[in-house]
Amino acid sequence: MGLFTILRSVPGTFTTMFVIERPFLNQILNHLQDCYPEEGCGLVAGDEMGRVTAVYPIENSLRSPTAFQMNPQQQLQTMLALEANGWQLLAIYHSHPHGPETPSVTDVQQAYYPDALSMIVSLANQVTPTVRLFQIAKSIVIEKKIKVV
Ligand SMILES: [Zn+2]
Repeated sequence: MGLFTILRSVPGTFTTMFVIERPFLNQILNHLQDCYPEEGCGLVAGDEMGRVTAVYPIENSLRSPTAFQMNPQQQLQTMLALEANGWQLLAIYHSHPHGPETPSVTDVQQAYYPDALSMIVSLANQVTPTVRLFQIAKSIVIEKKIKVV
């Protein structure tokens, strides 16, 4: 038994669904592959319906293959851009260059934005990256469905 358990998304628990258009998902995947073998990270903006409106790659200040910390200045500028557009912070994405595609203990401990989902991309298989989405709040991890349109 680990320090946290991943729960399956329960139908009806959430009013919104995470909907992302293929070009936005590709933007995320391309950025993370550019960062490989270091972890890459960024922010996903969206509207109140849970539909992605923009993707913002952020520099990983740690330049590490096993950890990330968003460049504070870029992060702040992005948050201001979101506010100016009337968008919400839907998700924070980052890669695990060598997997797994589930949150690490550090990811759970450092989930400072409980309202934002955590998108984790494993590049263990570089040709077909694995993308999973989690809601992390108070050490409870719930997997969310991603709808690619
Ligand atoms: Zn992680």
